[in-house]
Amino acid sequence: MKFVCFDCERAYMLQERSNPFLCDCGGLLEVKHDFQKVDVVRLKLEFDKRLTERMSSWASGVWRYKELIYPEMPEAYITSRYEGNTGLYPSETLAQFAGVRKLMLKAQSENPSGSFKDNGMSVAVSHGRSLGYTRFTCTSTGNTSSSLAMYAAWAGCSSYVFLPRHHISMNKVLQTLAYGAQVISFEGTYDDGIRFSELHSEQLGLYVCNSINPFRIEGQKSIVFEIAQQLRWQMPDWIVVPGGALSNATALGKGLHELKELGFIDKLPRVAVVQAEGASPFHQLVAQGDVQLKPALNPYTRATAMNIGNPPSWKKALHYAILHTEGVTVSVTDEEIMLAKGMINRSGIGCEPASAASVAGLRKLAGAGIIDKECTVVCLLTGHILKDTEAIQEVYNGDRTSAAPTNPMLQTSNLTVEEVRPYIADRQ
Ligand SMILES: *Cc1c(COP(=O)(O)O)cnc(C)c1O
Ligand SMILES: [Zn+2]
Repeated sequence: MKFVCFDCERAYMLQERSNPFLCDCGGLLEVKHDFQKVDVVRLKLEFDKRLTERMSSWASGVWRYKELIYPEMPEAYITSRYEGNTGLYPSETLAQFAGVRKLMLKAQSENPSGSFKDNGMSVAVSHGRSLGYTRFTCTSTGNTSSSLAMYAAWAGCSSYVFLPRHHISMNKVLQTLAYGAQVISFEGTYDDGIRFSELHSEQLGLYVCNSINPFRIEGQKSIVFEIAQQLRWQMPDWIVVPGGALSNATALGKGLHELKELGFIDKLPRVAVVQAEGASPFHQLVAQGDVQLKPALNPYTRATAMNIGNPPSWKKALHYAILHTEGVTVSVTDEEIMLAKGMINRSGIGCEPASAASVAGLRKLAGAGIIDKECTVVCLLTGHILKDTEAIQEVYNGDRTSAAPTNPMLQTSNLTVEEVRPYIADRQ
């Protein structure tokens, strides 16, 4: 296992370049494994056997795949809340809504801190601890900080998180504070915070867990490993993922690439990356066939987790998710996102706004004939329904008519059968 620069291909030993993970040329580093000893048949059996574990690190939906993620990690540093292990739910209602034959939702919202960030953060914090760090930092639109704060607390370490003052969900700020993190709120965008932490963290003695941390990418590969194992290694035609900083799209693409190269799967699904219209520099790049990403200077979307104008991992995402899988990108409006969120909520799964971008994007791509209606599709749901309760409140206050709830709250003065009976009717 070593680091290789994604831009100039220079290789570094693991100890040589660990914080904040930039090559001398300024390029992002990525983890390259030595997979020569991987025995696919044996590992598939082993992965299945580990599903019966309850209390060891094999019970984690990330560390179960240790051989493909971080084989050298000593057990003593593994920092795990049994993350991953999330459901893959077929839904006929949502398939119909999106306009495809078969749709399954991978509910990463079921993670211990409520978002897919846990899959990567478990590995990043474990790595930081193996280097001797006890202070961790990140810049976040909210979920990364919740996740880091949780793992740092669990490891008996401290965390310092930089959160933009505006366009951020209060639930995520409160969750982060509740886990005991020091929250540093600043005037500016996510992109400003990223720049600050990358320049100054080493000097402050902080281990950086931003989305460019290559171990977060390694950990997030487990999402696609779980999907593959849950589907008995028979992959769907498409996997659809929301894109903000593009760590998830990168991890998805890299994980698929490695599964295919090693022979775990025969078929490489195509990847669709969905961005919100107000923060869609990656979609613009792909749609216009540009060679350089043009950052969105004033990004705005109601889906706060995707409110990112200058996604650091765009080159990796372009390589792994788009070029490598014949992937596509699409952008959706906030109204389309909120409409899909309403459908996902009422289907019984539920999610925060950014997650619903996957289903909204699928609906648009299927409507345009880019994703064939006969396809089998997996959509990633990235964050929990309670991650943004203001978004639910807005709907009830009537701020967003497109996602109007079917069940407005009813008021009764006396709780009697006579008063209540008229309200009990079949609802759709
Ligand atoms: C972080 C996040 C995203 C965006 O993922 P990236 O890896 O930054 O592209 C989408 N949805 C939710 C809920 C998130 O927390
Ligand atoms: Zn380089």
